[in-house]
Amino acid sequence: MRVLVVEDEPRLNEQLAASLEEAGYAVDRALDGERADFLARTERYDALLLDLGLPNVDGLTLLRRWRDAGIGVPVLVLTARGSWHETVQGIDGGADDYVAKPFRIEEVLARLRALIRRATGQTTPELRCGAIVLDPRSGKVTRADAPVRLTSHEYRVLSYLMHHRGRVISQAELTEHIYAQDFDRDSNTVEVFIARLRRKLGAETIETLRGLGYRMECER
Ligand code: CA
Repeated sequence: MRVLVVEDEPRLNEQLAASLEEAGYAVDRALDGERADFLARTERYDALLLDLGLPNVDGLTLLRRWRDAGIGVPVLVLTARGSWHETVQGIDGGADDYVAKPFRIEEVLARLRALIRRATGQTTPELRCGAIVLDPRSGKVTRADAPVRLTSHEYRVLSYLMHHRGRVISQAELTEHIYAQDFDRDSNTVEVFIARLRRKLGAETIETLRGLGYRMECER
């Protein structure tokens, strides 16, 4: 899964990005409204963290613009502590949830997981496909209760497929959701990740639909 962090305070932006990466997300960063607007319109994100007080264009304006343009990505707004007014405006402006500053990173991560869970139609916090279980809370994957060790990119691929299980995911879509913007992308490497995941999880786990993409088909 891929997330955009929009926060103009450089250290906070960096801390958020580092924590999100550690939690298994591909992360892009924007330090002002203009950059955020450009990225939100040109890249594909699974969720956005959006500070409301931003240089160039403020967060609330951005949010309204995106919603008007039909950009439905889940947005978690970062608001000033005690500012119920800002919170109401944010949610009415199209935000899906909010966290008041200063916050604990654990709360941001939990709310983000919940947003992605709801946006992808999940009902349970852990994702299950046959004998495979992926727990976004711990970043752990098991196969028939035995732990499976994955690299960060393998985890991102599996996480995206598991959040969208039952659906055919093209290689292009997968590529857009597992790499940060500045990463040197090579769509061939997706095939390599899939091959490694099959070795680790069982060949039948991920189906290839020639010319279309990949699918995890499982009893829910
Ligand atoms: Ca700010």
